[in-house]
Amino acid sequence: MKVSGYSNCTLANGEGARVELYVSGCSLHCKGCFSKEAWDFNYGVEFTPEFEEKVLKDISEKYCDGISILGGDPLEKENLPTIKKLLRKIKEKYPEKTVWLWTGRKKSEVIQDKELLALTDVIKSGAFVEKLKCNGKYFGSSNQEIWYSKTLAPYEDKDKFNEHAIKTVVVEKVERSSLKNECLDDQCCSA
Ligand code: SF4
Repeated sequence: MKVSGYSNCTLANGEGARVELYVSGCSLHCKGCFSKEAWDFNYGVEFTPEFEEKVLKDISEKYCDGISILGGDPLEKENLPTIKKLLRKIKEKYPEKTVWLWTGRKKSEVIQDKELLALTDVIKSGAFVEKLKCNGKYFGSSNQEIWYSKTLAPYEDKDKFNEHAIKTVVVEKVERSSLKNECLDDQCCSA
């Protein structure tokens, strides 16, 4: 997996002070995308074991509330195994830190992955649609949704542009403890 951007402390994407990781590679090619350079899976620098160590160290800092993962798209099949491997380590070592994830995939597609739901806290889903462009706090077009991944309830954002996302969905609650040390991803080589 390649990384197109990184910050050890941002206040922009998610609540509190956060590590911010932008992965490379997105096959959706939304018209008007603000990060076209990150469509290329080979753009940026390699996410090496050393890079992963740095992420884990940065997250461990007292001021850090968690990690935000953006792209590109972290849920591309080329990226997902590495993302899950990182998130398993984060949730194992720092269960109190939150994980926010941005994807262009639809919510109906994202919720199929129960392990992903267990490893994340808040997900922004949906492709960018230029004609629905808006100034959402954490999203760019009004078709997109932000929701708590454990319950699939809408993220309680005060941002008025998020009102479209008020849809409460009751689903099976995923218990992360039941997934501990268990890799459910066939493409992932090791935990
Ligand atoms: S999903 Fe995001 S990164 Fe991918 S093309 Fe759309 S706006 Fe760009």
